[in-house]
Amino acid sequence: GQRQTLNVNESIYATLVILGHKIREKQLILEKKLDQDLPPLESSCSGLNQVWTNILDNAIDALPEQGHIRLKTWSEKHATGTVDLCITIEDDGPGIPLDSQPHIFDPFYTTKPVGVGTGLGLGIAHRIVEQYGGTIRFTSGPGSTIFYVRLPAKPPTP
Ligand code: ADP
Ligand code: MG
Repeated sequence: GQRQTLNVNESIYATLVILGHKIREKQLILEKKLDQDLPPLESSCSGLNQVWTNILDNAIDALPEQGHIRLKTWSEKHATGTVDLCITIEDDGPGIPLDSQPHIFDPFYTTKPVGVGTGLGLGIAHRIVEQYGGTIRFTSGPGSTIFYVRLPAKPPTP
């Protein structure tokens, strides 16, 4: 499709509006450090809101009432001149058990009860980020799970 420019901060805000009900219901505390000078994302891909939705959905599920979610964006310029947009989504929930960690991006992998989890959220998020030419990683332990998304500001044309 046609290349378009998108503001990643606005994409995150739009997702927070959609999830607002669940966030308020659990009285979660949001901390946002979104870089106001973040360069635009230029891409012909779509589906970025789904990435934030799927990561945040899991954080909301994992957190107890009044848990914290921290959102951060910034950009990094490489010596070659290319720019990456960096996004982290952190929660202070129980963390992903070590034996689950190798599997969380696998389609249908879920630790949630039948009917609650489909196990598709992170697999879909991973696929969308790859389409943008980006990467998605995480680190997790008791009290902290951080998803780290890196997107080239000008992704290579597929
Ligand atoms: P689902 O949410 O339907 O289970 P996902 O692909 O979204 O499927 O997530 C897979 C699994 O990864 C979850 O079932 C959960 O065990 C784990 N997980 C993902 N994010 C978190 C998080 N922030 N805290 C704890 N566990 C998580
Ligand atoms: Mg999920």
